[in-house]
Amino acid sequence: MSRIRLSKSVIGEEEKRLVSCVLDREFLGMGADVLEYESKLSAFFGRPVVCVANGTAALQLALQAMGIGKDDEVLVPSLTYVASFQAIAATGAKPVACDINEHNLIIDIKSAKDRLTSKTKAIMPVFYGGAAGDVDGIYAFANDNGIRVVEDAAHAFGSTHDNKKIGSFGDVSCFSFDGIKNITSGEGGCLVSDDEALISKAKDYRLLGVERDTEARFKGKRSWEFDVVTQGWRYHMSNIMAAIGIAQLNKREKFATKRKEMATLYSELLREQSSIEPVVKDFSQVVPHIYVVRIKNLKDRQALRDALLAKGIETGVHYFPNHRLSYFRDASLDEQSIVENIYPELLTLPLHADMSADDVAHVVECIVLELAS
Ligand SMILES: *Cc1c(COP(=O)(O)O)cnc(C)c1O
Repeated sequence: MSRIRLSKSVIGEEEKRLVSCVLDREFLGMGADVLEYESKLSAFFGRPVVCVANGTAALQLALQAMGIGKDDEVLVPSLTYVASFQAIAATGAKPVACDINEHNLIIDIKSAKDRLTSKTKAIMPVFYGGAAGDVDGIYAFANDNGIRVVEDAAHAFGSTHDNKKIGSFGDVSCFSFDGIKNITSGEGGCLVSDDEALISKAKDYRLLGVERDTEARFKGKRSWEFDVVTQGWRYHMSNIMAAIGIAQLNKREKFATKRKEMATLYSELLREQSSIEPVVKDFSQVVPHIYVVRIKNLKDRQALRDALLAKGIETGVHYFPNHRLSYFRDASLDEQSIVENIYPELLTLPLHADMSADDVAHVVECIVLELAS
C-alpha cells in the first residue's frame, strides 16, 4: 500500500484550466478573478466577504479593523495553530491563553471568564476540527462583557451550527484556504461580517492602507494619487489564487461529503475501541478538516507515530499548546489544566478528499495492532 498522507490538496482539471486562463490573460495580481471569487463566497455566506493572502492575515485584519491593538488583550484557546496567537500579536495586542473544554477542545468559557480584565477587547474561539461547540455560550459571554468575537473558522468551511452556515451569523468569521483546508486557493483566506465599517477597513488594510484601492483594482485599474490614514499590509489575494478558489468552491459539496464519509467510517471502525475516543462525534453539521482522536492513557505518542509511519501512515499532532511556546509562555496554564492533560493523548489521523474506505480501514487496523502490541 502506498503512503497515506495526513492531508493534501485535491486538484483537478478545472483548477488547471482556470489558472491557465489567468496566465493567458497576463493579469496575475488582484483583479476580476478575485472579485468573482469574493462575490461567489459572499453569495455562499449571504454576507460581505474580504479575500486576503491567508487565514492569519484575515484574523489580524479583523482585529485591526475592530480597533484592537497595543495594550489590548484577546482571549484565545492555548490549543490552536500558532497562527491565531501570531495574528493577535501582530496587531500589538496580547494573546491571553485560555484552557479548553474537555469534550470538544474549544475554548472553555469559564477559563476565559477567569482571564477577563479591563484590557480584554475580544475573544477568538477556534472551531477545532470544524465544530462550533458552544458558540452560543461564547456569544453570550462576549455580549455580557461587551467584547467582540473573532471566529477562527479556519477548520470550519462548510460546517453549520443550528443548521446555519459558519460564517453566516457571527461578529466576524475568518477562514483559511491554505493547501490542506476544506477548500483551497493555494494559500489564501477571507473574513466575513455584516459590519460594513469593518469590511471597508479590511479592504483598505489589505492593500497597504490605500483608500478604496479595492474598487480601482476590481475595475482593472489602480490608484495613483491617494491617501493613507493608517497602517496597512500587503495582504491582498491574487487572481491566480482566486482561480484555484473558484474551482474548489464549485467542488465544495463533493469534498464535504467525502470528508464526512471518511470521518464517519473512522468512528464506526473505532467504536469497539474503548480507549480511543474521537473528538468530534457527530459529523452531520461538521465538515471535518482534521480527524482527531484522544487515546486514553497513551504513554508514548511518538513511538506510536513512528510505528505508523513505518507502515506508511502519516499522523499529526494538533496542536502543541501555545502557552508552552517561549514567545507566548504562560505558566498559569501548566498545572491541572485540561489542555495539559489532554494534549499528550491527542493524535490526528489521515483525512483528505482523496482517501478511500480501504485507506481508513487500513489506518484503523494498524492503530489497533500497534496499541495491542
Ligand atoms: C490554517 C489555520 C490558520 C491560518 O490560516 P493560514 O491560511 O494558514 O494563514 C489559523 N488558525 C487555524 C486553527 C488554522 O488551522
